[in-house]
Amino acid sequence: MRNMKAAVFVAPGRIVLDDKPVPAVGSGEALIRITTTTICGTDVHILKGEYPVASGRIVGHEPVGVIDTLGPGVAGYTVGQRVIVGAITPCGQCHTCLDGHHSQCGGRAMGGWRFGNTIDGSQAEYLLVPHAAANLSPVPAGLTDEQVLLCPDIMSTGFGGAERGEVEIGDTVAVFAQGPIGLCATAGAKLRGATRIIGVDGIPERLLMAKRMGADITINFRSVDPVVEIMRLTGGRGVDVAIEALGTQQTFESCLRVLKPGGVLSSLGVYAGKLTLPVDAFAAGLGDHRIVTTLCPGGKERMRRLMNAVASGRVDLGSLVTHRFKLDQIVEAYELFANQRDGVLKVAITP
Ligand SMILES: [Zn+2]
Ligand SMILES: [Zn+2]
Repeated sequence: MRNMKAAVFVAPGRIVLDDKPVPAVGSGEALIRITTTTICGTDVHILKGEYPVASGRIVGHEPVGVIDTLGPGVAGYTVGQRVIVGAITPCGQCHTCLDGHHSQCGGRAMGGWRFGNTIDGSQAEYLLVPHAAANLSPVPAGLTDEQVLLCPDIMSTGFGGAERGEVEIGDTVAVFAQGPIGLCATAGAKLRGATRIIGVDGIPERLLMAKRMGADITINFRSVDPVVEIMRLTGGRGVDVAIEALGTQQTFESCLRVLKPGGVLSSLGVYAGKLTLPVDAFAAGLGDHRIVTTLCPGGKERMRRLMNAVASGRVDLGSLVTHRFKLDQIVEAYELFANQRDGVLKVAITP
């Protein structure tokens, strides 16, 4: 049995580099050799013990790689082909998938999110891909690993916020938080035709990047109250769509407070504890508001579309990759990313 290096969750506060066996490939599965992967905010929640995974689990859910082995029953691919796989790996056959909710595959409790959660993940030399025929997505020629590195999760989730919010041509959109997901939501709102995008964050570098991603106006919440400022900018009308990209009571509430009657609150954050809804901002339930949520859309068709957006030059998210590490330096990479040192947005990890 061959061994490989992998980033393994041991206990809260401890993700270490360890040796693990290269997985055996079963029917309907594929093994890919990872060429680039990254660390997500969710992995930091796992590291801190805020999201439970089994001890010994290989973490990571953002794979770019090359097909190494195809299991029986996986047709239409060749060994050596460059592919990405979405963070969410729908089976394409269960009730929830066939209901059209692929990311919720398998039913309640985020069943479609398997990598680095319920099965071993991508921060390793090799990754076993389940339901491979539904999930392996070939990378168009000419695109680099870093150009497609955000497609599996961050871009899919961020764009999903704009899509689920049904941003329309001419809309005014506020995006609360300009971390990697918020920045992709900003880029997604622009692609969908919003003509006034307001990015909110407290970190000047992120506000600068928000402008590059398509924000027309940025607000630093450390110097002005974003709710007051957005209501002023919209002449008291409020925004058509408010995208929440952090997962806190305050940002959720601020989204509601800047929403026009009939507006959409598109929520991307992962909340902890209890989320309360202020009745005054919710117009006592009579504001015709819609609140929608999105778990990263996955599957090969989603990945194909996102990579087409990159290949067409309509969007360039490669600039969100600010730091590079070898897999051997994974502990160091987590240290930098978890503490948001040195203006980090996304790190590229190469085995
Ligand atoms: Zn993620
Ligand atoms: Zn399914």
